Amino acid sequence: IPIDIIPTGEQYSQRVGEVIVLKNITSFKELDVAKTNFIATVSHELRTPIASIQMSTEVLKHPRTGTLTEEQQQLLLGIEEDSIRLLKITSELLNVSQVETGNIKLFSQFVDPLPIVNYAINATRMEAEQKHIQIHSDIAVELPRIFVDEEKTAWVLTNFITNAIRYSPINSEIWIRVKQEGRYLQFSVQDHGKGIDSSYKNRVFDRYFQVPGSGRTGTGLGLSISKDFIENQGGKIGVESELGVGSKFFFSIPIENKTIDLYTT
Ligand code: ADP
Repeated sequence: IPIDIIPTGEQYSQRVGEVIVLKNITSFKELDVAKTNFIATVSHELRTPIASIQMSTEVLKHPRTGTLTEEQQQLLLGIEEDSIRLLKITSELLNVSQVETGNIKLFSQFVDPLPIVNYAINATRMEAEQKHIQIHSDIAVELPRIFVDEEKTAWVLTNFITNAIRYSPINSEIWIRVKQEGRYLQFSVQDHGKGIDSSYKNRVFDRYFQVPGSGRTGTGLGLSISKDFIENQGGKIGVESELGVGSKFFFSIPIENKTIDLYTT
């Protein structure tokens, strides 16, 4: 055991030895992987029954099923809202398990940006209708194709719209815009909702962070997963917001020269 003298200000103390603790963490790592796999499987399995609950509510709402009393309509609305929440949580859990293990698998290809927007609008239609929110889109013509994982990029846009709906008042408007900004293609979702206090703006992309007072309905995971998905694709993500006025969440994807390579080789 080495013994040496370590100066600490005017005093001198003696180091009389060193203790090295070695711990085999293989079992912890295995447990962690098992836990992650379990979360992924459960969240995946939950999606089918939730989808069938949503289909049943659609059938019950149909005029052919008969007229519902006011109370029955309210109950049905509650089931619909909860099933939307459950679906969001399961899809976040499914994705966070990938992100946590640093195991984001990207299946990137050259895609047209328009289907990404259409997918996100369709996926959020039911939630928007429930709050009588109009979703408008303003998409520049002749947009370049981008090299992205289409599913993950659509997931991020869907998450932005879901949040915009959640944090906006009824009868309000949401605008989805896609435009070229230099060497980037920018997707943005603007709402006229509650907005975010400037002191919290940078924190909304942190894992599990929720602005105090935003209700305990969410998980605080959606935006942090979105950040991982976009940054892993070489993109940028951000928000502009004013409390009481609204928010604009955006992400930009680089328009790569790979497009040219693909067609010339
Ligand atoms: P969740 O919505 O599940 O809580 P997110 O990661 O998607 O988690 O969002 C984190 C927090 O950011 C939310 O809890 C909310 O406080 C705030 N936030 C997100 N989107 C908006 C928005 N469009 N308007 C106002 N606040 C928002």
